[in-house]
Amino acid sequence: MTTKASKSTDPVSDSESDDSLSQTESWDDVEADEETQEVISLLDDRVFPDVVSMLAHCKEQHSFDFLGIRQRLQLDFHGCVKLVNYIRQHVHEGLPVTEQIAKSDFESDEYLKPVLEDDAVIIGLFDLPDVVPEGVLPSQVQDGDAAPLVNSLLKRNTELQDELARISAQFESYRATVSQTLDQRWGDVDQAEAEAKAAGKTAKGPEKPEDASKYYWESYAGNDIHETMLKDTVRTDGYRDFIYNNKHLFAGKTVLDIGCGTGILSMFAARAGASRVLAVDASDIIDKARENVFHAGLSSTITLIKGKMEEVVLPVDKVDIIVSEWMGYCLLYEAMLPSVLYARDRYLKPDGLLVPGTCNMWVAPVADSEYVMDSVGFWRDVYGFDMKAMQSGIWDDVRVLHWPKTSVCGEPVGIQVLDLYTIKPTDLSFAAKWKSTLTDDIDALDGFLVWFDNFFAPTRENQGVELQSTADEWAKVGKDRVAFTTGPYGKDTHWKQGLLLIKQKEDDSKATALKKGDVLEGDITFAPPADMPRGLVIKTSWKASGEEKARTQSWSMK
Ligand code: SAH
Repeated sequence: MTTKASKSTDPVSDSESDDSLSQTESWDDVEADEETQEVISLLDDRVFPDVVSMLAHCKEQHSFDFLGIRQRLQLDFHGCVKLVNYIRQHVHEGLPVTEQIAKSDFESDEYLKPVLEDDAVIIGLFDLPDVVPEGVLPSQVQDGDAAPLVNSLLKRNTELQDELARISAQFESYRATVSQTLDQRWGDVDQAEAEAKAAGKTAKGPEKPEDASKYYWESYAGNDIHETMLKDTVRTDGYRDFIYNNKHLFAGKTVLDIGCGTGILSMFAARAGASRVLAVDASDIIDKARENVFHAGLSSTITLIKGKMEEVVLPVDKVDIIVSEWMGYCLLYEAMLPSVLYARDRYLKPDGLLVPGTCNMWVAPVADSEYVMDSVGFWRDVYGFDMKAMQSGIWDDVRVLHWPKTSVCGEPVGIQVLDLYTIKPTDLSFAAKWKSTLTDDIDALDGFLVWFDNFFAPTRENQGVELQSTADEWAKVGKDRVAFTTGPYGKDTHWKQGLLLIKQKEDDSKATALKKGDVLEGDITFAPPADMPRGLVIKTSWKASGEEKARTQSWSMK
């Protein structure tokens, strides 16, 4: 994830409010009608009491074996829905429909739109047997010879009871897909709105608060931010390599992509063989993701769900794998990780996989008098004017930049390992001790650099990621492992690093020079500011060996 956003408030406490839907139907209506509905033949205008007898009629009278086609083309539920609508559309237009039909004939998402309102065949798709049961022929239905039919139906009834759980899940899926794929494309409906509508809530109730994270979602709606992330090859290759190098982990699995953005990670997962991918994002970028998924021909595998992770209702109870690119500047800025932890606790199977599974955080002392002169001293003489007013914030804000590794003057120190399987949201505010030996002689300590590494392991065990583990060392053990650093010793990433610039005292005519081998030590804390849950405050106290008094300074990102 990138990082540009966020002056917003707690995403978890936000609640969707706007229900501007004008549609009058709900899915409940569809379900209520189900029992009383007659089934109109797919190929003519005859009417049947159930789908099975209608299909038997089509097979017998029109030599059109719907279930055979389903079997031959290996159609999943959505495929069947499209096939039904395709047939109905063709029959409606007087065009021929033959058994030689190919999957490509009806792959368009347009065929998810019901041709017949409340089509009993589509509702009945949940209950279809593999083949038309013998004895259920139209002639028998009409002749009133009920015995074979009753037996057959009793048998089917038992089977249907067993399938109830599966059917419910499929229905949820259909509901989500139609709601998201079609309603939204045409009517700009998001899931929270659709849910509110289904629950009979009114749209602009005065009791509903504004979405306080609105500006955060808007920051992800445009192309630029996603282009930056996708072009960060360290980041995007990292996810791709892990997913493609571990296809056996993804094959046949249900994957949740939290914050899907353009859909890139969902598409990696689908290409790796996931049987189902649920892609969630609250930003309007998901509309583009839907198109991207469609053009990739992955619409039947990837279900896009617009809404906040904490508020959407997934069409499954549990998932096998969660992928998410949630990392912000200095790892924790932007505070998306709590949304991932929420989903982990709510949806991930006990043996499920998190991608990535571990991160660690680093700090190192830095010295670069040229940089300080250029970015701080500069303001004291701008074309002969003292613009020291422009310096405000220089020492209070975390500066995000690519820092040259030659200006790191001490050993980097690992300050925190985040095991994503076990950490809790409260662990994201923490204090750590650090100690670094200087690797150069310096005239003055100018600040500290903060960065993080990400580790992707094929098992729930982090496979030895420790405080001082470096991405390169850890990853070279096996191809199924992937790790990358955002630090100054690796290739540049869009996260850059966080610079904490030390404010030299005005009367410090001479800053303290330090020698190679001197030891700096201190503690460091990370926490969101009280008034801005998506922001970050980093505070550190430090002193060099031999010094009596520690200095303390804090920096923020808002
Ligand atoms: N996965 C994409 C985009 C990552 S950027 C990629 O790798 O390129 C992070 C995305 O997460 C943004 O699009 C943002 O809108 C979304 N996001 C952040 N918090 C979210 C939440 N709680 N629920 C849903 N989407 C969220």
